[in-house]
Amino acid sequence: MSGFELRKSGIKELLLDTVFPNKCPLCSEAVYWKNYCCDKCFDKGLWIRYDKGDICRCCGHYVCRCYNIERVYDSCYSAGFYSESVREAVLALKYECSTNAAEIFAEMIYRQMLHDGNTDYEFIVPVPMNERKQKKRGYNQAEILAERLSARLGTEIRNDLLIHSYSRSSQHDRTAEERAEFAEKEYYTADNIHINGGKILLCDDVLTTGSTINRCAYLLKEAGAGLVTAAVCAVTL
Ligand SMILES: [Zn+2]
Ligand SMILES: [Zn+2]
Repeated sequence: MSGFELRKSGIKELLLDTVFPNKCPLCSEAVYWKNYCCDKCFDKGLWIRYDKGDICRCCGHYVCRCYNIERVYDSCYSAGFYSESVREAVLALKYECSTNAAEIFAEMIYRQMLHDGNTDYEFIVPVPMNERKQKKRGYNQAEILAERLSARLGTEIRNDLLIHSYSRSSQHDRTAEERAEFAEKEYYTADNIHINGGKILLCDDVLTTGSTINRCAYLLKEAGAGLVTAAVCAVTL
């Protein structure tokens, strides 16, 4: 993947670079202010290529793990696997709101969509974060990814369809069963929503057990969505 057409052009970024030097979100190397990551990380075989191998388009693994699991979403695009430098970039997006990371993830997902001719969606829906947590963090990382994809696909973002209620415990410490159980209790649809059978692109940062994506896909389909395609920065190994 050479030919780095992905460049910043704003004067704001140029000025910012003198105060906060621009860095690659994957390896933390300093990079030219116009770049979103370094050429090395961009070209490295870090990125999932659905067009190259036998990767399952649902769970994102070489050896499909979809058996025994009832998937409600129809397919999933992931930029990479949640390990090493891709993991670093996900954390940079999650905790530092790294637009560099968001841009790279969106670009890698978009290239796979283009390859598949799968770029037509009715809306983009980011997996919601509960209001309290979002206020504290200042942003929802799923929404940042959704914005970067929206810029490429020209598709509207709808963050008024799904709601996440407040929960004290963190997803990290939960087993797969607990995650599914919590997802069922925590995510719900806003009142009176109706989707006219369209295809929805559902964005989240990481696909782990798939319970959150599954629950959100279920809710969207209940509200009338025809197909739900997920897009995530990374899938866990
Ligand atoms: Zn790098
Ligand atoms: Zn699979």
